[in-house]
Amino acid sequence: MFDLSEEQKILLDNLKRIVREKVRPAAAETDKTGDFNWDVVSLFWDLGLLQVMLPEEYGGWPQDRSHTLCLSIEEIAKACASSALLLIIQAVGSFPLIYAGNDDQKEKYYPMISDQRNLMGYLVTEPGAGSDVQAITSSAKLSGESYILNGRKVFATNGAVAGVYTVLAKTGEKELSFFIVEKGLEGISIGRIEDKCGFRGSNTAEVILEDVKVPRENLLGRPGEGFKIAMGDFDMSRPTVAALALGIAEGALDYTIKYARQRYTFGKPLIEHQAIQFIIAEANTLIEASRGLMERAARAFDSGRKNTKIASMAKYFCSDAAMKITTDMVQILGGYGYVKDYPIERMFRDAKLTQIFEGANQIQKMIIGREISKE
Ligand SMILES: Cc1cc2nc3c(=O)[nH]c(=O)nc-3n(C[C@H](O)[C@H](O)[C@H](O)COP(=O)(O)OP(=O)(O)OC[C@H]3O[C@@H](n4cnc5c(N)ncnc54)[C@H](O)[C@@H]3O)c2cc1C
Repeated sequence: MFDLSEEQKILLDNLKRIVREKVRPAAAETDKTGDFNWDVVSLFWDLGLLQVMLPEEYGGWPQDRSHTLCLSIEEIAKACASSALLLIIQAVGSFPLIYAGNDDQKEKYYPMISDQRNLMGYLVTEPGAGSDVQAITSSAKLSGESYILNGRKVFATNGAVAGVYTVLAKTGEKELSFFIVEKGLEGISIGRIEDKCGFRGSNTAEVILEDVKVPRENLLGRPGEGFKIAMGDFDMSRPTVAALALGIAEGALDYTIKYARQRYTFGKPLIEHQAIQFIIAEANTLIEASRGLMERAARAFDSGRKNTKIASMAKYFCSDAAMKITTDMVQILGGYGYVKDYPIERMFRDAKLTQIFEGANQIQKMIIGREISKE
């Protein structure tokens, strides 16, 4: 571990206990039923975990917000990745407001998030636009004092359970803009809820916007600043996905080491076979390397330094490591790694998403290459 502040150490100690007592016991059942776990949500509100990125007067963490958020996500993801994702989407959904909102917008929406405990959704991806954000077709047309929003957003984490969304839409031929939109507005409906391979406790929904009348004052930043805001959001969110992947990998390795001490083959514990030790050694090394990247990316964000390249490196390296580690841990458990009585197969399914969302890993490499060529 890099140096932690006293406050971070206290937070992590509390979080470890809460994860052990409340989050871990619910993880397998949540994965099985696919039900959204509102008890975990209330617990996280009480602990201030869904407000970390907000200013301190609205319940946010006093300093090193991104780093603290990442450490919390890592700790929760060791036991339940779906629960850890709640922290990420809350930060990602709030970021356009934090980054580009004006005083009036912040005065209205910070309390709506923090005091009224509204979950956030982030509506960017569309059926025809995932990696290529600029290909979105949802539109926002100015009509008097309102924007009229139309479009179909897919894969929205918290889509059906959030109270407030930040939405990216076209305000001109080549102009993207962000809006803050309350879910209760007329014209917003929820379409399909995705039946996913992993992260089954996370709500992923289609959100349909039909002639939604959004007050003009809900535009975040200036018209046309949407793409810049989305890219700024990625600089914050990619270290958090790195932390998510790291937590999943650590959870899988910890479990497997305990298992390998107890499981005997050919007269000795699995862990005493050198071939198994090599797999564990490699996994542990990847985890330490992942932590280094994640910490540097998060701390760079907190210090205000441009972290685009290191954030992309952390996101792709940690998620590839998590996929490799969870696959290898399934192998160490053998048949028991492949059945649902043991948590490893869930972690293996969960790890896959970390390679895909918040910019798939191919996109991270494109960004790293682009940043290097600019240097
Ligand atoms: C569970 C889940 C939750 C999500 N939550 C949200 C959310 O809350 N809000 C939101 O807006 N979106 C969300 N997403 C969407 C997610 O960000 C996208 O799925 C992701 O960005 C990839 O887009 P796509 O699925 O359309 O893949 P595509 O863009 O179609 O890409 C498919 C594959 O091709 C690769 N590829 C694409 N272009 C290139 C290229 N030029 N060179 C090389 N390879 C390339 C990609 O890396 C990817 O592997 C979520 C997705 C999932 C699955």
